[in-house]
Amino acid sequence: MDNITLLTKHHKAAVLETALAESGFTLTTIDAFDTDQLGTFTGEQQRTKSQLNTALQKAQLGAQLGNTRYGLGSEGSFGPDPFIGMTPWNIEVLAWWDAQTEHAVYAMIQGPETNYSQKSVSSIDEAKQFLAQVKFPEHGIIIGTNNDSYFNKDVQTLEMALEILQPLLAVAPVWLETDMRAHRNPTRMRMIGKCALKLAHNLKCLCPMCTQRGFVASAQIPGAICESCGAETRYPRAELLSCSACGHKEERLLNSFAPANRCDFCNP
Ligand SMILES: [Zn+2]
Ligand SMILES: [Zn+2]
Repeated sequence: MDNITLLTKHHKAAVLETALAESGFTLTTIDAFDTDQLGTFTGEQQRTKSQLNTALQKAQLGAQLGNTRYGLGSEGSFGPDPFIGMTPWNIEVLAWWDAQTEHAVYAMIQGPETNYSQKSVSSIDEAKQFLAQVKFPEHGIIIGTNNDSYFNKDVQTLEMALEILQPLLAVAPVWLETDMRAHRNPTRMRMIGKCALKLAHNLKCLCPMCTQRGFVASAQIPGAICESCGAETRYPRAELLSCSACGHKEERLLNSFAPANRCDFCNP
């Protein structure tokens, strides 16, 4: 087993270590480094890099500070779904870094499994409704924004929340939002666990040319043939597997044929 280091203040190890052990890695965590420096969900610190690059930076810092060859980085993001923009959406990225060969392998998972939500509430009833809806106190909440004097990311119980909210709501509406930090959000923690399984899979896919890890699909290639009229469609025909170490590429067939409802001629 090789050692791999994860920087986390948010207790992510439990959902990662089994999948990593399966790939031959023993996970060590360092909680002394403040990963919030690289960006928080609540705006005190804006993330300056892309989600992928932030995960990579964390993995590189992990290897460096843990003095291990390998590092692991985790970075989540939340927002509206990419289709119609109506449903909350979570994207989780894990980056695996080999400092010796300077090779990175990523895994990404996304979906609507999140309680991501925020609301300005004007009454205790409204507040209680929001808290129930986001599954507080099993899931954490945040009271106020980082500009408010009463900004609070550590409310643990309903009693405590109401005690804080009562006097504030007597004066003005209060901003409430879900805490998306992994240790305060079991739903997100499960998504990170799923992402770890995908990473374990990606680490097992070796490049047939150079045997480096992470020989996985990097793109889909359109062009499946319509099952009804025989025209070429935009439906994916194949996926492109590529190696970021040596540049080797291979196509893997996904669908020879596309359903007629995905054809621009049959279903314009
Ligand atoms: Zn057709
Ligand atoms: Zn290769």
